[in-house]
Amino acid sequence: MNREEAIQFLKENSINNIIKYINIINNKFKREYITYSKNVFIPLCKWCINRCGYCIFREENAKLMKPEEVKEIVLKGEKFGCREALFTFGERVDKNEKIREELKKMGYNNIIEYLYDLEDWVLSNTSLLPHTNCGILEYEELKMLKEVNASMGLMLENASDRLMNTIAHKNSPGKLPKLRIEMIENAGKLKIPFTTGLLIGIGETDEEIVDSLFTIKKIHEKYGHIQEVIIQNFRTKKGIPMENFREPSPLKMLKVIILAKLILEDISIQIPPNLNRETGQLFLLAGVDDWGGVSPLTKDYVNPEAEWPEIEELKRWTEEAGLKLKLRLPVYDKYISREWLSEKVYNKIISLQF
Ligand code: SF4
Repeated sequence: MNREEAIQFLKENSINNIIKYINIINNKFKREYITYSKNVFIPLCKWCINRCGYCIFREENAKLMKPEEVKEIVLKGEKFGCREALFTFGERVDKNEKIREELKKMGYNNIIEYLYDLEDWVLSNTSLLPHTNCGILEYEELKMLKEVNASMGLMLENASDRLMNTIAHKNSPGKLPKLRIEMIENAGKLKIPFTTGLLIGIGETDEEIVDSLFTIKKIHEKYGHIQEVIIQNFRTKKGIPMENFREPSPLKMLKVIILAKLILEDISIQIPPNLNRETGQLFLLAGVDDWGGVSPLTKDYVNPEAEWPEIEELKRWTEEAGLKLKLRLPVYDKYISREWLSEKVYNKIISLQF
């Protein structure tokens, strides 16, 4: 599918074309399994250099989580059979003076040094594997964190500069597409299995959605490191600047998922099941491959109002669509090799006998 066809598909209201493309997807991509990762969510710090119009995660007076707090969550997660320790926190939290002082007291110069030690502990002492998603990182920071991460992530959200002047991103310098594309490319150069995605419903046009999908495709063609693309729907929340924005309709989401699968092909397409409770099951018909990270223990701190479904519920949704639910690691099977993982992470995965 080329750019023009994709844009036309988003703009037109044609049931016939939706059905046609769903048929093409199901004939071309013979899916047997829908995967998910059982994780614990570790919001290491809720401060952030950005102020996105849809964010409910950011807190002005946030503190850094202590090592004991992190370890407690991870050890509890281990008892629940979790395999992923998801470290998600605000961008450049060490630009905040109070956080810098907290880090200094613990003997760290910056957040990355602290993160590295925590993730190294997770890797060496538990059966969980770290995955980091904390906004823009420099090449050298990515290189350092690759040692202790099974995979890493950064949502592209959208490749359009125009959104930098809108309510969504006007106070978020880290959302400049150029910076995000550069980081995703750097992860590719470093051979880091990577997760990215689009945020749908933040004021983008159909053209901008399509261009963002092709941007991801182009990067993946060069480096081959993008394991999954999340198609995330904007959800409105009380008190955010975008409180009155309309959420994307189920049909819009369906069409974007169809396009994502047709354009990105071998990359896994993920939708968050807690944000799509009523519609997620139908999205399986349109090419979704993965339910993403689901936690039996911790809430989704980015969307705290949206509870995770029980694994049993996820299994039922999946099986009703004629598919099977399968647990995966934070790194997809095809990247489990010395070519893609640090020695430390690779040996850990082998020892897990997953
Ligand atoms: S970058 Fe993430 S944490 Fe920071 S303000 Fe935006 S949505 Fe919130």
